[in-house]
Amino acid sequence: MTDTEQQARCGYVAIVGRPNVGKSTLLNHLLGQKISITSRKPQTTRQNTLGIKTEGDVQLIFVDTPGLHTNQDKAINRFMNRAAESAIRDVDVVVFVVDRSVWTDADERVAGEVSKSGAPVIIAINKTDRLENKAALVPQLQTLSRRFPEATLIPVSALHGQHLNELEQAILAHIPQGTHYFPEDQITDRTQRYLVAEIVREKITRQLGAELPYEAAVEIEEFKYQGKVCHISALILVERDGQKKIIIGEKGARLKKIGQQARLDMEKLLESKVMLNLWVKVRRGWSDDERALRSLGYDE
Ligand code: GDP
Ligand code: MG
Repeated sequence: MTDTEQQARCGYVAIVGRPNVGKSTLLNHLLGQKISITSRKPQTTRQNTLGIKTEGDVQLIFVDTPGLHTNQDKAINRFMNRAAESAIRDVDVVVFVVDRSVWTDADERVAGEVSKSGAPVIIAINKTDRLENKAALVPQLQTLSRRFPEATLIPVSALHGQHLNELEQAILAHIPQGTHYFPEDQITDRTQRYLVAEIVREKITRQLGAELPYEAAVEIEEFKYQGKVCHISALILVERDGQKKIIIGEKGARLKKIGQQARLDMEKLLESKVMLNLWVKVRRGWSDDERALRSLGYDE
């Protein structure tokens, strides 16, 4: 064994927490690159995405989770739950993200899963930038340290990148020796096609907020380079005619805006000029059809 192989460390880090506490924001900051979508609307991250960070001898493999869901009726929620539960097993450390002050039933459910995981736990108390003063954090700290006496508690602001160094140091303390699983320049296990579809989904969610009960699914129909330009056609799938009208908007204005914003992000991601075509189609029942979900890549 060579010196470098002896020093190499590699480990899996699960990022868990109820929807909207800031998991994706945290992951993007830790990686220093945007691979997971964020939005004010809960439940925007549907599948586990690996974010890989290699620095010198250490490789951290982060697993962003779709959150644990209460409503098991719909196939899509069952998929999301299974993905989150499997993410929490077989990892070297769990980062449990909670809010600086709010504690809901959904947090309680995730806490239950975290307790069962068996891995060491770091609790990242997020959104501390919103605190008026530090004393306001005391009740939350007390409750959490009683509940998780073994856990390391670290107040952070994922959005403003505050105290993320401390968080990273705490994570590193649990990363075992081992050779790296991924090449050092790889930052995610997802394909460019997948990331591009996620960008479209993010823009739809940002534009429409609460108007869509479920975010639309996005299928990439074409992804090819012609010279220096990447040509992308994306199909937006919705459940009902009404939703199609909402996405398209008055004289197509909404869809145009979604397309413009998505194209800019895609150009940054792909570091190339992008020609983007968006289509909206009604496919009834896609969110409750296990087979349709698999064909869209929602698989374990
Ligand atoms: P997720 O559902 O847990 O992945 O949450 P997201 O990362 O998508 O974040 C949900 C919302 O919370 C977004 O609007 C974020 O901008 C916001 N957010 C995340 N972290 C922070 C933070 O540290 N401070 C503040 N003020 N907002 C945050
Ligand atoms: Mg998320």
